[in-house]
Amino acid sequence: MSISTSTGRLFALLLLLLTACTAAEAAPLPTATKEAIPPTAAAKLMPILQASVTPTATEEPTALPTATTPPTPTIDPAVTPTPTPRPDGTPPRVALQVGHLRSNELPDEQAHLRRSTGARWGTVTEAQLNLDIVNRIKPLLEARGVIVDIIPATVPPGYDADAFLAIHADGSTRSGPRGWKLATPWRTSAASKLLLERVATSYGSITGMPEDVGGVTVNMRGYYAFNWRRHTHAIAATTPAIIVEMGFMTNAADRAVMFNDPDRIARAIAEGVLDYLERRDPRDGAALLPPSYPVMRALEGGAAIRSAPRDQATLLARVGPDVQIIPFDKVGEWYQGFVRMSDRRIVGWVRADQVRATDEQPTFPTPTNP
Ligand SMILES: [Zn+2]
Repeated sequence: MSISTSTGRLFALLLLLLTACTAAEAAPLPTATKEAIPPTAAAKLMPILQASVTPTATEEPTALPTATTPPTPTIDPAVTPTPTPRPDGTPPRVALQVGHLRSNELPDEQAHLRRSTGARWGTVTEAQLNLDIVNRIKPLLEARGVIVDIIPATVPPGYDADAFLAIHADGSTRSGPRGWKLATPWRTSAASKLLLERVATSYGSITGMPEDVGGVTVNMRGYYAFNWRRHTHAIAATTPAIIVEMGFMTNAADRAVMFNDPDRIARAIAEGVLDYLERRDPRDGAALLPPSYPVMRALEGGAAIRSAPRDQATLLARVGPDVQIIPFDKVGEWYQGFVRMSDRRIVGWVRADQVRATDEQPTFPTPTNP
């Protein structure tokens, strides 16, 4: 269900006012009190936005599909997830997660994220913006025969779908940073990669916004909802997934699209999802499997950690056998992974012929909610 036209106009007007206030201000830092939406208008907006969310996991846990094999919350490199069978003719199912929505209701296992409310601009919270966009994407997908689940911060246990998109927006302490970026889980299936590629292509061309190149953070790839190994309230291992950072709420040019032309953002995301669904082979179960690699250590001669899978790429670190390398991807003869140094943790590429596999247990960084 989308917001009614009059409410949509009201929202757009408020956001225009916000943008106008900002442009006139000399100080680059927004404050919550300076550009406040009139409290009455904000109060009206809130319940309308919240009312259009579908039931949550706690209210109706059986309404949403779960994986055939419940994901193991413990870390087991040998686990082989099984995709839920999709009989012929089953309509595709897509989850749109509204980033930070009702994060105060997150379960105990994610209690540390309950106060993660995300970015804001004036009195507009990230969750409000995310929900507005999600409500606009939903009818576009439904019109093409897709079943859409709108999901708040809390993910139903082992939630399984043909695609899962976590919708977020960025914020910065400075007004300059802008642009969008997408990320897959650390261990990325071929399906997640294709989903990212298709949404990135449509998002860039339809919104006209710049990509925040190099801006993908550890927090995005370590998104809590992706972490089926650690959390029960996470997507199934075989659900293709991306997190979408639509743009910066703290940048005027990004707000001009996200706040004033939200239908364009919605169309950009919906087109990418539809393109993905068209291109994927729904019978290709192997494409859904996230890869699993053993923990590695450098050989006696040491290993070079580089910024890209090439010998000429920037050297990030040179490590000895005392350092754990935790791979999560492989391209050609190069592994991409975390390297745990004593004082820092880096992500980089290492040549397969400079490392050996161990039987150590991998430990991924603590899941986050950017
Ligand atoms: Zn966020």
